[in-house]
Amino acid sequence: MAEYSVFSLVRNALTGHKNWQRAWRDPEPKPSYDVVIVGGGGHGLATAFYLAKVHGIRNVAVLEKGWLGGGNTGRNTTIVRSNYMLDDNSHFYEKSLQLWEQLSHELNFNVMFSQRGVLNLAHSDGQMDRFARRGNSMRLNGVDAELLDRNQVKKMVPHLDFSEEARFPIYGGLLQPRGGTARHDAVAWGLARGADRLGVDIIQNCEVTGFKRSGNRIEAVETSRGTIGCGKIGFAVAGNTGYLASRLGLKLPIESHVLQAFVSEPLKPFFDHVVTFGAEHFYLSQSDKGGLVFGGDLDMYNSYAQRGNLPTIDHVMRAGLAMVPSISRLRLLRHWGGVMDMSMDGSPIIGKSPIDNLYLNCGWCYGGFKATPGSGWVFAHTIAEDAPHPLNAGLRLDRFERGHLIDEEATGAVPGKH
Ligand SMILES: Cc1cc2nc3c(=O)[nH]c(=O)nc-3n(C[C@H](O)[C@H](O)[C@H](O)COP(=O)(O)OP(=O)(O)OC[C@H]3O[C@@H](n4cnc5c(N)ncnc54)[C@H](O)[C@@H]3O)c2cc1C
Repeated sequence: MAEYSVFSLVRNALTGHKNWQRAWRDPEPKPSYDVVIVGGGGHGLATAFYLAKVHGIRNVAVLEKGWLGGGNTGRNTTIVRSNYMLDDNSHFYEKSLQLWEQLSHELNFNVMFSQRGVLNLAHSDGQMDRFARRGNSMRLNGVDAELLDRNQVKKMVPHLDFSEEARFPIYGGLLQPRGGTARHDAVAWGLARGADRLGVDIIQNCEVTGFKRSGNRIEAVETSRGTIGCGKIGFAVAGNTGYLASRLGLKLPIESHVLQAFVSEPLKPFFDHVVTFGAEHFYLSQSDKGGLVFGGDLDMYNSYAQRGNLPTIDHVMRAGLAMVPSISRLRLLRHWGGVMDMSMDGSPIIGKSPIDNLYLNCGWCYGGFKATPGSGWVFAHTIAEDAPHPLNAGLRLDRFERGHLIDEEATGAVPGKH
């Protein structure tokens, strides 16, 4: 596979762009693999990439029931950050952010990572106190954080509602300057190309429908393209985890909910940062194409459908107008839904399962896109070594049995509140 570079661009331009190679192969499944990863989203692809690159395990297949990135990876609002307070999350997401900072270079593929800053708005003294606490905790963990007062926020994002009539007056905010956005499709494509170059078979239109077991091990997966043997198997199927695990008799502490996202008609660049509202669940950024990209709360009912409902659209729009009233006449271009894997403490589950050779990667809630490289990094380690990486040691499934929940929001076992 040729490197992408300015020279290859010029060479291909001079030959009418007829000689570009496919970015990854389209192989038939082999009878068996050392490792089978189920799910061709960012997490499955990153896991395969790091299995091959870091651990030298190349006899790997990624099985995807649809197309690469057709799940939440290609449906999210692309926010990347590591602004967590609790140690288990903080160290894990910071590692992920560090991997993002070199990902385009590592993959030889531009994932358009843009560190434009992520700003959380505060609307009361109590919220400012909480942000100061989180910001201090971040700094103690070596993560960048700045507490801004109202004037600093106004200077940075003048389009927010600073008027006397503001429904939720802005007191200040917590900024993570290194946070930002990345192009979600490019992440899936870059990781697929990177994994393929190292020998991983990426097999699309291949749904895992069942399992062949021998005692407490899985010997093979049954798929829409035949039976495929596996030494080890990793699930990275986000909102479908509960369903797939139920085929093995496992009941996991996650629920599937719909989350919607929205993009407006394009505007000239005016909104330079990622801003999250502190009074309601709403967050906004402007894409490189000019569209405003935003999202809000879950649709609040369990579902496997990748579409949402009108009351939630109404709710999100109200929050958006309260935060940036000047967008009231903007037209919505598209909206869509993804199936979220909501864990009961709001933190992910990465680790071994009760079945000997099955490993789980799920429970990403609203925030798994930013975890993509970090998740692949620690999941690959966990599968290769049959033991967690220090960064996901606390994120194991058995924390729910042990009562060691990692509950950033301190809201308890209520998926809609995380
Ligand atoms: C609207 C929305 C906004 C979001 N915004 C953000 C954000 O701004 N920042 C952030 O960090 N996170 C965000 N997220 C969360 C983030 O998108 C996800 O946590 C992350 O992309 C999950 O990646 P994944 O690879 O685990 O899952 P996915 O990308 O969903 O990949 C799982 C894949 O598994 C496949 N699959 C399922 N069942 C099977 C089967 N039986 N056989 C084979 N394949 C199967 C699916 O087709 C899918 O492609 C958002 C999510 C949504 C829906």
